[in-house]
Amino acid sequence: MKTYQEPFLHEKEAKVTNIEEKEGFLLVELDDTIFYPAGGGQPCDTGIIKNNYFEGKVADVSKKNSKIIHKVKIIDGTLKINDKVICEHSIKRRLNLIRMHSGEHVFMGALLKTIKDIKVDKVRLDEDESSLFVICKNLTWEQIFEAEKLANKIIKEDRDIIVKEVSKEEAKKIKGLRIKLDRIKSESIRIVEVKDHDLSACAGTHALKTGFIGNILITKFNLVKGTYEIRFKTNVSEDLFELAYISRKTASIIRKDVKEIPEFVENLMQENERKTAKLRELSASLVKEFKQEKIGEINFVYNIFDEVEKKQLIDQAASLKKEKTVVCFLNKLGDNAQVIIVASEDSGFKANELLKDVMDKFNGKGGGRDNFAMGSIKAEFSEKAVELVKEIIRN
Ligand SMILES: [Zn+2]
Repeated sequence: MKTYQEPFLHEKEAKVTNIEEKEGFLLVELDDTIFYPAGGGQPCDTGIIKNNYFEGKVADVSKKNSKIIHKVKIIDGTLKINDKVICEHSIKRRLNLIRMHSGEHVFMGALLKTIKDIKVDKVRLDEDESSLFVICKNLTWEQIFEAEKLANKIIKEDRDIIVKEVSKEEAKKIKGLRIKLDRIKSESIRIVEVKDHDLSACAGTHALKTGFIGNILITKFNLVKGTYEIRFKTNVSEDLFELAYISRKTASIIRKDVKEIPEFVENLMQENERKTAKLRELSASLVKEFKQEKIGEINFVYNIFDEVEKKQLIDQAASLKKEKTVVCFLNKLGDNAQVIIVASEDSGFKANELLKDVMDKFNGKGGGRDNFAMGSIKAEFSEKAVELVKEIIRN
């Protein structure tokens, strides 16, 4: 095991073997390091390196060819090649990443037992919330709940997490091993086993036993370009209380028991869909009603509507634009009213100018083009707005 793969080695002496300066940082190489370089979906460790003459913050650690480069921000002092330094982890971050990484293995093992055709695409671990990207046919919350339940059972059983090195040839023979052989260049392969549950080739840092993970909570999942991103957290308690708070609060709003929430909401959604369809139908016939008045040569079309569908009204207003026509529709929506003005080119009026007069007078907001403009005013001015447009046309 490499020093930086030792899960609980948080402090160690090392010798500086190379230093370069770049953009206000020192790029430091050490003879040995406890800092995990970013790779395999696991982000790097952070921390400090120091001695009696120097203190620096390790902001980033990366692997370039076989070299591990520590990007260090100087806090105080100077550092030279051959200096001895003490390296220290940001322990909280390291422990969180260990929990996340071990949790990911346990959960992936559980997913494989729940869903036959599932494959890992990649992993993106972080301190607070991590992501597992998987490919499978159709992922459902029921499957996720089942895998989550199994993963938490494995965690509770405090199973051993065993790390061993095998050759590429041996690795090929291990049944059920999760490995991307084409991506591995070295002859020796590091295998991480969650005892009798999951086998994976991995170079990251893991706990010694599953109990250290605490627990695992899947926070959400969604499908992006054929790959499911499953987000998860480990060692949570505040999040569980937050979720419990939300469900109890929701239950009290709908006056039901917590367990009745899903069915209730499903029914509500279906009912809402039916009612929305009905309203749309109703609104479609309402928007067809309008008044007409001849003002000089202009055909003035107007009406004030109550809560009709915006798009239907816009389409209807546009369809009424005939010769020498000005259309003025208002649509009361709660405290406000949508104002739609349409003017034909031969009417001598411009929709955006008419709308501007209405907006200026009634302190509204909106805009548009010569033949179509739209804005919003307080609903109480609806009748006066129509009168104003009529007045402008008349004069
Ligand atoms: Zn791992």
